[in-house]
Amino acid sequence: MRALISVSDKTGIVEFARELTELGIEIISTGGTYAKLKEAKIQAIEISELTGFPECLDGRVKTLHPIVHAGLLAMRSKPEHMKQLEELNIETIDMVIVNLYPFKQTILKEGVTRAEAVENIDIGGPTMLRSAAKNYQDVTVVVDPGDYEKVLFELKENKEVSLDTKFYLMQKVFMHTSNYDTMIADYLKKQREDYELPETLTMTFEKVQDMRYGENPHQKAAFYREIGKKCGSLVEAEQLNGKELSFNNINDTNGALELLKEFTEPTVVACKHGNPCGVGSAETIEEAWDKAYDADNVSIFGGIVVINREVTKSLAEKMAKIFLEVIVAPGYEKEALEILKEKKNLRVLLLPDIQVPQEKHAYDLKKVNGGLIVQTIDSELFVDENLKVVTDRAPSEKEMEDLKFAWRVVKYVKSNGIAIAKNKQSVGIGPGQVNRIWAAKQSFEHAEELIGEGAAKGCVLASDAFFPFDDCVEAAHEAGITAIIQPGGSVRDEDSIKKCNEYGIAMVFTGMRHFRH
Ligand code: 5GP
Repeated sequence: MRALISVSDKTGIVEFARELTELGIEIISTGGTYAKLKEAKIQAIEISELTGFPECLDGRVKTLHPIVHAGLLAMRSKPEHMKQLEELNIETIDMVIVNLYPFKQTILKEGVTRAEAVENIDIGGPTMLRSAAKNYQDVTVVVDPGDYEKVLFELKENKEVSLDTKFYLMQKVFMHTSNYDTMIADYLKKQREDYELPETLTMTFEKVQDMRYGENPHQKAAFYREIGKKCGSLVEAEQLNGKELSFNNINDTNGALELLKEFTEPTVVACKHGNPCGVGSAETIEEAWDKAYDADNVSIFGGIVVINREVTKSLAEKMAKIFLEVIVAPGYEKEALEILKEKKNLRVLLLPDIQVPQEKHAYDLKKVNGGLIVQTIDSELFVDENLKVVTDRAPSEKEMEDLKFAWRVVKYVKSNGIAIAKNKQSVGIGPGQVNRIWAAKQSFEHAEELIGEGAAKGCVLASDAFFPFDDCVEAAHEAGITAIIQPGGSVRDEDSIKKCNEYGIAMVFTGMRHFRH
């Protein structure tokens, strides 16, 4: 039996090769691997000796030779194949142990050049893996050092590797080489800044962690990372305290982080079931917390809080008073962390890049039964020159500031969504209703519960999509709303504008809708 060993990741290779030679298996290997084995005094033949051809072009050509590939691909059960090998004076190779140039590690390096990345595209390795895997009935192919032990065990027990194991190993190879190539293709696509939707969509994600369960306890779940992405997202966060993140934690925190990224001034976003429940912006982070907390001190219970400034001691004291699931911040004062750590279950995450804006170009993917719907992410807020005052009265500067605040919030509220705000504080949020008037009424009710009768007085309102009728304006007026921001574009826009003028409400059209489901 002959084994060809050519590995970039040399973990465990010396021990494995030693055992193989002890089992009487002859070893062939490439430059670096050969040197490593020789150093450990393991007998091996250099590939150039086998092929009679030197490794050349800086290692670009090492094993790409018919002596190697015919030795791998010959079907032992086919007499013609074996006859040809004999005529060509080629011997079979029965085992291939190969792992590839570290393309992933290369592209993850800071400041890596395209040339460096391209040089790390392995050519001969995948070729050998594929040859061996295609002929899996006759060749054992090991791409994962984690399988060395299993192969050794079978060789020792049965003097051969079972067909079942060989099939398992070959299937693993094609999974591995296809992921490897997809990673290369992904990297190159990004290099070209090509954001078109391709005919076939292949993306590689790697597992960050298994989760205890999914959205519900009977569902299995894991968290995967998009390789090579750096966008201030949850996968980059370091967990400093608490239980591991759950499926729902991750989903909700993601939404909260997206909303937080719309703000540069000190801001706190509290979130529940994927919807913001309290948002506050202010000059200091403590004030922002007070606003977010006061906005809805019921729903925040068991919620998720994301913050774009360092958590101070006094803020931590306030946070520790209530039950929270997750806190994410770009930093924590030492005493603040000590206070939060007293709560054993509270997940505390550190995300220094929390302010890094969302990538402008990325795919938003949603699995549907039997397929996938893909769109580019909703990376816009509104286009300045498209903002249009459509009423007789224009909003005051103060109203305009609050309108823009509410618009940011409503962008992240599930549709149909309405958000009302005042003084850069969310005062009422109506998420996920099947008609707009219910969403509006819910936001007013929320405000009333918070502040009491006439609660929405002097507040502004944002709607994620146009008003189909003027009933929302009517209700807004009754609740005390003074200004409205919405996309516009309904055939009945005129009715809503007329109603606003009647009540002296200022209304702005953004020309952009933000459905979110
Ligand atoms: P070594 O460190 O033994 O010199 O090289 C091992 C690496 O070379 C492995 O990752 C293997 O996949 C890769 N390799 C083996 N043969 C070839 C080849 O002919 N061309 C290229 N580009 N890489 C190869």
